Amino acid sequence: MTKQRAIPQISGVILAGGRGSRMGGQDKGLLELNGRPLVEYLLAALQPQVDTILINANRNQARYQHYHYPVISDELSDYQGPLAGFAAAMQVANTDYILTIPCDAPELAPDTVTRLWEALQEQQADIAVAHDGERLQPVHALIPVSLLPSLQAFLAQGDRKIDLWYAQHRVALADFSACRSMFRNINTPEEQTAIAQTFSSTTKTQIPHTELPILGICAWSGSGKTTLLTELIPQLKSAGLRLAIIKHGHHDLDIDKPGKDSYRFREAGADQVLLASSKRIALMQENTPPQEPTLAGVLRFINRDSADLVLVEGFKHSAIPKIEVYRPSLGKPLLYPNDPNVIALATDDMTLVVPPHLTKLDLNQPDSIANFILQWRSQLLKPSTTIRHQPSCADPREPNSLSLAEARRRIMASLPTLSPALKRPLRDALGQVLADAIISPSNVPNYANSAMDGYALRGATLPHTNTRAYRVIGTALAGQAFQGTCWHGECVRIMTGAPLPAGTDTVVIQEHTEVGDDGYIRLGTGQRAGQNVRQAGEDIKQGSTVLAAGHRINPADLAVLASLGIAEVSVVRPLRVAFFSTGDELRSIGEPLTEGQVYDSNRYALYGLLKQLNVDILDMGVVRDDPASLEAALQQASQTADVVLTSGGVSVGEADYIKTVLAKLGQINFWKIAIKPGRPLAFGTVGQALFFGLPGNPVAVMVTFLQLVEPALRKLACETEYEPLLIDAICQSRLKKQPGRTEFQRGIIKREAGKLRVEKAGHQGSGVLSSMSKGNCLIILPEEAATIEPGDVVQVQLFNW
Ligand code: AMP
Ligand code: MG
Repeated sequence: MTKQRAIPQISGVILAGGRGSRMGGQDKGLLELNGRPLVEYLLAALQPQVDTILINANRNQARYQHYHYPVISDELSDYQGPLAGFAAAMQVANTDYILTIPCDAPELAPDTVTRLWEALQEQQADIAVAHDGERLQPVHALIPVSLLPSLQAFLAQGDRKIDLWYAQHRVALADFSACRSMFRNINTPEEQTAIAQTFSSTTKTQIPHTELPILGICAWSGSGKTTLLTELIPQLKSAGLRLAIIKHGHHDLDIDKPGKDSYRFREAGADQVLLASSKRIALMQENTPPQEPTLAGVLRFINRDSADLVLVEGFKHSAIPKIEVYRPSLGKPLLYPNDPNVIALATDDMTLVVPPHLTKLDLNQPDSIANFILQWRSQLLKPSTTIRHQPSCADPREPNSLSLAEARRRIMASLPTLSPALKRPLRDALGQVLADAIISPSNVPNYANSAMDGYALRGATLPHTNTRAYRVIGTALAGQAFQGTCWHGECVRIMTGAPLPAGTDTVVIQEHTEVGDDGYIRLGTGQRAGQNVRQAGEDIKQGSTVLAAGHRINPADLAVLASLGIAEVSVVRPLRVAFFSTGDELRSIGEPLTEGQVYDSNRYALYGLLKQLNVDILDMGVVRDDPASLEAALQQASQTADVVLTSGGVSVGEADYIKTVLAKLGQINFWKIAIKPGRPLAFGTVGQALFFGLPGNPVAVMVTFLQLVEPALRKLACETEYEPLLIDAICQSRLKKQPGRTEFQRGIIKREAGKLRVEKAGHQGSGVLSSMSKGNCLIILPEEAATIEPGDVVQVQLFNW
């Protein structure tokens, strides 16, 4: 037996660079299994086993990038197979070994690395490859990066066969016969369904990320992360959880003291010191060579057998769910707008309005935060149900449906970054998004001037005891300055907006003076030096940021820009949005209706909603439910627009061909979202364009647009404030609601007796468009809410106002 060496540094490589031919050309890493893309299963399984992760992908790079690991593409074009992915990974890996795994087999043994490493050592080989007892599984392999020149030479000869390359080296076979299910991969839609079913019927341990939930606490320093953690720990402990805490420390972090034995061992040069007593065990390991630890790297040290939850402080950029701690008084920006992993905001300002996909938590009530964590954890660990039934809109929360928050998170995280900027004359910039910050070229006002009609004088000469007389030496008008200087005992008659004459710094309003007929005024005590003056730069200082990039220009901004003399601004190019309606029953207005036909109203709703966002609109009319017309329309739309919207045909209707056509043309996920109205939604890309397939029912179209499409369009247009403003109102109606899905009821909000009150706007069926036009707001009933009784406070989102 060879002496076992410690496991070296390893980069896990997820091979998602294939063409997916047998899946109709779909990107297999993004195929969904029980509502989650395959790549997420593998990331979760790899994180604890390797030091870092690389994703090898040849398309949809933006979507993979959202996991915050490097995404690398083959150097060889045209999908040349796994060896091309190996080579690409070996070129960028900064570890000694890579562990390769295919993206289409969602299971991975938790000891994959150990098994491969042990085989490599025992058989004194260069490469270790998995063997399932019957055959080699060549893509599950541990390969030293030092073999890159050999692989490159092999590829340069035009060879692509993996076993031929392996044949040039000493290969150890690692026995994986006990975990053969990890080699079941998805090549056809039937296999996808079959694997999804076994996944949902087997125990939770098969979905690795649910084994040990990991939750981050993120914030700017000084926000009180550590204090919060120390408050949470006892609460979570008393709920029976065993906790592991990971903290990212500064580089010279030290917990050991001079004089302790452990310190002496370490000083003497030990790479690891493990202290063990009957009470606790501590491991200190030198990080050599010094390098920033990765969360995946340090998670290896957590003992999974004695933890039910890992809480992480720091590692702000890792892709784990997080609670953001936010104290507005610190003046630091919020993190969640740029981090789709934030699930809740713990703040000391409960008046703060947070977007609906976040839970607002009171930083001063750690017990409520602990409760939130407990609920989140049990939700995560809930085994998927095996019961199969025909899903319908009547179900409060059907199996495999996505929460609204998760759908939003996925959409927002997968948006590409746009967009070229355009110069626009000031007036045309109204309603557009600023591409660059506006820095003030001057002070506003650019000279000190009077805020009132009165008399300008020197503040130092104001009377403190008696009255005092001042000689009026002239007049200053707006646009007509007084030219001389004002000395002691003198004043200048001044009008609002007039520049302060030289020598003056104070204005006394005319009502506080007594004007004599001798050319003097008199005034008494009670005046303050410096009063009634607008200082130069008081509104806007030269060099300060007047408007940030990403701000949508409103009428007041136009005025501010005009006040700075700015004639032209850079705005983000408006998005081009194409849409059409699908359905054989639809007719455009102007055509006669026969039985069973309806006028297409969705295009009008979309037109109106899009118009308010200042996008360029391309209305493509009604498209018949037949594959050729749908394909032609989708292709035309995706070639001309940044975003394509359709309505209808994404639910289970028999004659709806759009799903098949979409699967052929694009990378589309079909979701069932736990909302009412608006359950089915398709989202993805068609060609270069982003695609949203909205439901057919008119109210559902508007609701899904407001909840999912509008924030995405705003973010895509680089707008920073894309979350809707929600306000609280007292509900006056009884609103029936089942827990398990987010519901949007149409409401009418008004102010009555000094309070905002909302009542429901008539019948709430998802085809009842009139409720939408009668109403002026959506009443948002969160997923966990049950029936609302009159008098309860609800959140509403305004529209039509
Ligand atoms: P679908 O999702 O295609 O099954 O459509 C669901 C319902 O919405 C059906 O009653 C359709 O007739 C209706 N619908 C679909 N598209 C439109 C539209 N553009 N205008 C009005 N109603 C529509
Ligand atoms: Mg239809």
